Amino acid sequence: MKYLLLSLLFLFSCNNSQKINADFDKVKNDFITDMWKIYPDYATYMGFHDYDSVLYVPDGSYNKKQIDFADAHLAVIKKFDPALLNTTNKTDYYMIENQLNSIKWEVNSYRGGTWLPSVYNLGGIFYEILNYKKQHLETRLSNISKKLSNVPAYYASAKVNLTDPTLEHTNLAILQNKGSVSVFDQSIRDSVKKSSLNEEQKNILNTRLDQAFNAINDYVLWLEKDLKPSLEKNARSFRLGKELYDAKFKYDIQASRSAEEIYQSAFREKEKVLAKMTGLLSELWPKYFKDKKQPDDSLLAIRQVIDVISLRHVQPDSFMAAIKKQIPQLVDFINKKNLIYLDPSKPLIVRETPLYMRGIAGASISSPGPYDKDAETFYNVTPLDGMSPEAAESYLREYNYYILQILNMHEAIPGHYTQLIYSNKSPSIIKSVLGNGTMIEGWAVYAERMMMEEGYNNAPEMWLMYYKWYLRSVCNTILDYSVHVLNMSEEEAMDLLIRQAFQEKTEASKKWRRVQLTQVQLCSYFTGFDEIYSLRADYKAKMGNKYNIKDFNEKFLSYGSAPVKYIRQLMLQEN
Ligand code: ZN
Ligand code: ZN
Repeated sequence: MKYLLLSLLFLFSCNNSQKINADFDKVKNDFITDMWKIYPDYATYMGFHDYDSVLYVPDGSYNKKQIDFADAHLAVIKKFDPALLNTTNKTDYYMIENQLNSIKWEVNSYRGGTWLPSVYNLGGIFYEILNYKKQHLETRLSNISKKLSNVPAYYASAKVNLTDPTLEHTNLAILQNKGSVSVFDQSIRDSVKKSSLNEEQKNILNTRLDQAFNAINDYVLWLEKDLKPSLEKNARSFRLGKELYDAKFKYDIQASRSAEEIYQSAFREKEKVLAKMTGLLSELWPKYFKDKKQPDDSLLAIRQVIDVISLRHVQPDSFMAAIKKQIPQLVDFINKKNLIYLDPSKPLIVRETPLYMRGIAGASISSPGPYDKDAETFYNVTPLDGMSPEAAESYLREYNYYILQILNMHEAIPGHYTQLIYSNKSPSIIKSVLGNGTMIEGWAVYAERMMMEEGYNNAPEMWLMYYKWYLRSVCNTILDYSVHVLNMSEEEAMDLLIRQAFQEKTEASKKWRRVQLTQVQLCSYFTGFDEIYSLRADYKAKMGNKYNIKDFNEKFLSYGSAPVKYIRQLMLQEN
């Protein structure tokens, strides 16, 4: 009898939990459906094209629409107790809640539309719609025509909103909007000509293109002639300040610790890394400099060794081939060491970066969006044949023999590509759409470290280069927090990056520009790594002699691209 009662109770709670989770699945779908209505551009970029024709004018009524959306869905999810949800839904719950609170904070406190002239730029979104090749050109152009009709009102509203812009983002807006003009004046116009639209439709489109073209030029002119001269005397600082920074860090990074704590931990980490690099000198200095006296300043000595070993690199015409050859080597090592299961039915395809994506040389992963999951994933590598010999040489010194291996671990295997395969197996639209960048970047940085610890290449040169590379992540965090919260000057920033972190001057200058134009994102690499690394230590302690690295890696990735702090809760509470 007692047994029967217990099992009935179990049955009841089981069914009940099934129902709660099914209800929550429906809530998630409603949330996504409504979100696409309010954020049509975001939908387009994610591969959902139902709202390609919609352009909201960024005015007070649109702000209200966003707040209403956030409040309504917060009220709905608050009816659920996250403790009763299964692991997928529980993390989805927290991610939705964070997104909705973040929207309210953006509209009410951050108010980017009042001080970031660069948020007003339509080139990218129109280009994306025009190039959605799965749809007939005529359908795309009809969406574009409707969307174009709001462009003049859009820019008129931008001018009203921008009450307190920064000079840096004004310059960026001028540059980017000038670049966008060609999308309207060339790309779309050429497509109109080629299309089978009738004359009247073509005329309407061309008139709207003229109006959009004029509105953008007028905006650029206004920024240059009316706004900029006054800003040169007195403008809002690009530095975010502590209050806004802490909040943005909370919503974007979603770490278990505060920005200040992460900054302090990065600061300590930098000292530790430099000590390790200094330690490597005793072997490397005599190897490369024989009897020459080592400088007393160890930073200087490290720099000199880095410069020498960077000369070991592939030739420009074998850059692609070198990357292609390394991928199976990485796979073999991982299989031999049993570090993580790699699905052999999903090999990574290395290809030359398509022309329309080129711009900066380098390597990147292009992955299918949540609405196009079966599409292939590519490792894009830009060949160096377009570069001058000097530029190619400098690029190859940067991506030398050692760094190239680390780059492949980061971008491909077991970094971003491997994480993506696991993420696609955890079928949550929420995590595909709101995926946590800190977890994603953190995993790639962790993947490099894991490969080094497991002995992929134990040469002291490799370790020195690894630490240089890793120092970049650490210093990104130090730089971002120091600049936005602690008023770090450009000179101090350059000293940090060049003298204390061994970066080239061009790389450091680019970073200085990026830190002025973005906030918080630069923290994601080190923060994510640090959270994963300390989670692994705690997981190891908890599992005792049952711990093994393969289980940790696979289990960690099985939750999808969720913030590490939620994965931590789930991994440490389960048995
Ligand atoms: Zn060379
Ligand atoms: Zn990355």
